[in-house]
Amino acid sequence: MDSKRKKTKIVKEIKVDTSKCVGCRACEIACSAFHAVPKFSSVNTARSRIMVVMDEFRDIFVPIRAGDYAQAECNGRNRYVIDGKEYDACTFCPASCPSRDAFKEPDSGLPLKCDMCESVPPLEKPMCVDACTFGALTYEEREEEGAEEEKPGDMEIVFEALVKKHGKKKVMDTFARLSKS
Ligand code: SF4
Ligand code: SF4
Repeated sequence: MDSKRKKTKIVKEIKVDTSKCVGCRACEIACSAFHAVPKFSSVNTARSRIMVVMDEFRDIFVPIRAGDYAQAECNGRNRYVIDGKEYDACTFCPASCPSRDAFKEPDSGLPLKCDMCESVPPLEKPMCVDACTFGALTYEEREEEGAEEEKPGDMEIVFEALVKKHGKKKVMDTFARLSKS
């Protein structure tokens, strides 16, 4: 093998064209159905990892995918002015964070994060893209130089959030108790 050959990774991207989004929320429905347990057994858009920010009066529809879990509320905020209209500080933020309810499991409050619908076998394109018949979401894959990063899975994200909320000892004790039953 050529040791000088540069490593590449596949970068997956969803391009959002807000001018084509009509706020139908089919993407939210598809995402929540795909991530239901078992798959497609229910639809609950509160469990979706994509959220369409909408304001019909101002004619704005912006799909936002859930990003990383933030352990602490950020102490600096963004303020967006688009076409002369000002939007609230957290409106377009993709993080699940302690200061708002977005991207959290409604029952447990645990964080939700977009996983690009990674599944076995892999989908041709993510569910939200497939469901968007208006062409607001398009899927692209490209190769980029650099080693593949190890991403935390759902379990790691949830475990970290539980430890943060209840402390490691309580989580480990509960886990030990449940594994005996
Ligand atoms: S499915 Fe497409 S058009 Fe409908 S809300 Fe989602 S992004 Fe917008
Ligand atoms: S890529 Fe998959 S997990 Fe991510 S928002 Fe779209 S449907 Fe949900």
